[in-house]
Amino acid sequence: MVATQEAVSSVGVWEDGSLKDAITDANTSPTPPFSHTPTPFDVEAIRADFPILRQLARDKPLVYLDNAATSQKPQVVLDRLQQYYTAENANIHRGVHYLSELATREYEAARIKIQHFINARDAREIIFVRGTTEAINLVVGSYGRKNIGPGDEIIISAMEHHSDIVPWQLLCEEKGAILRVIPINDAGELLLDEYEKLLNERTKFVAVVHISNALGTINPVRRIIELAHGRGVPVLLDGAQATPHMKIDVQELDCDFYAFSGHKLFGPTGIGVLYGKQELLEAMPPYQGGGDMISSVTFEKTTYNALPYKFEAGTPHVAGVIGLGAAVDYVEKINLDVAGAYEAELLNYATEAVAAIPGLRLVGTAREKASILSFVIEGAHPSDVGMLLDTQGIAIRAGHHCAQPLMDRFCIPATARASFAFYNTRAEVDAFIAGLHRARKMLG
Ligand SMILES: *Cc1c(COP(=O)(O)O)cnc(C)c1O
Repeated sequence: MVATQEAVSSVGVWEDGSLKDAITDANTSPTPPFSHTPTPFDVEAIRADFPILRQLARDKPLVYLDNAATSQKPQVVLDRLQQYYTAENANIHRGVHYLSELATREYEAARIKIQHFINARDAREIIFVRGTTEAINLVVGSYGRKNIGPGDEIIISAMEHHSDIVPWQLLCEEKGAILRVIPINDAGELLLDEYEKLLNERTKFVAVVHISNALGTINPVRRIIELAHGRGVPVLLDGAQATPHMKIDVQELDCDFYAFSGHKLFGPTGIGVLYGKQELLEAMPPYQGGGDMISSVTFEKTTYNALPYKFEAGTPHVAGVIGLGAAVDYVEKINLDVAGAYEAELLNYATEAVAAIPGLRLVGTAREKASILSFVIEGAHPSDVGMLLDTQGIAIRAGHHCAQPLMDRFCIPATARASFAFYNTRAEVDAFIAGLHRARKMLG
């Protein structure tokens, strides 16, 4: 009764001809839409889709600004999970019965939704994993262990999340390979000249974050990929922070691997995606052994299942996959181009407002930024700032944001971080700013 009807009603848009009219309008209109008008974005209508946002925290209206850690879930996702466990639950791919066929169909339908969401060429290029962390570990453990040897070099960046550092370090230890790091400037932007110097005939892999979770920097990934491909080196992008904020087209980016997490994309926890180019995935050995990833097993020899099942050993998170499908439907309906423009306005508004707070220093002032305000306040520990905001119902994060080497680069142990989603409002930013003024007075 839930997500399938969503899909049907959005197809109705096509049937009544309105989409065709919209395309005709866009083609004949002299200016692109939204270029001279404020973003037509009904944030209150969107907030109504998220029941948790109506909740109080510490007896105050909840102001949730910790979206880079995890985002909240719209009612359609909650309903879809309920529907799955209420009326569709079965193990997939093996069953000959009604429910198993139903669950399998919904699971595979979600794979196709995600294929379209990131514009992958083929649904077999979509591998379901637990999240970004597991996606990167899969690439390191399979592609990396097969193709990287002693003296080979892997390039990452100074702003990677620990999940794009530690797996590579483990591989380097095992193989005698070397990790190289693209440095950044004081604004938190990658130094592309330095990156070009790092690329050489020993370089076997490049892995960089698309949008930094600690700084908000949007990295010039097209250029990074072009330069690597010029030397025949494959590139993985960590898209955990990019997928909730911008449209991703893996074919246009021409990345070889793209990793992201469902829970940051308004979907369930415990589910994520690894995209990989088919020819690379075909050539990679399995990452884990078990059920569903084989086509036949004897004690002498096992042959592996085809893509994508070769990389999906064991019973997968069926509910999570189906819930993520519903989240992707929701996000596509919102339209990330429109939501992204709204978020950019909100970030500008907040950036200007924090500039007026004495002793506050932004960490991460890149020209290309998305949805994240990381900062320190003179004389106040970030955790104390976070705790004082929490007493007012305002949720931010304080810490190293799983990017300790990046904190070292800025010679600080931690930052306080507010991170926005398309359901946040200017009024919430105002509450956050008022809270900061109060915190500064109490701590300073
Ligand atoms: C959250 C995050 C990760 C890790 O994602 P998990 O869902 O914890 O696996 C990796 N990289 C970035 C940039 C992140 O923000």
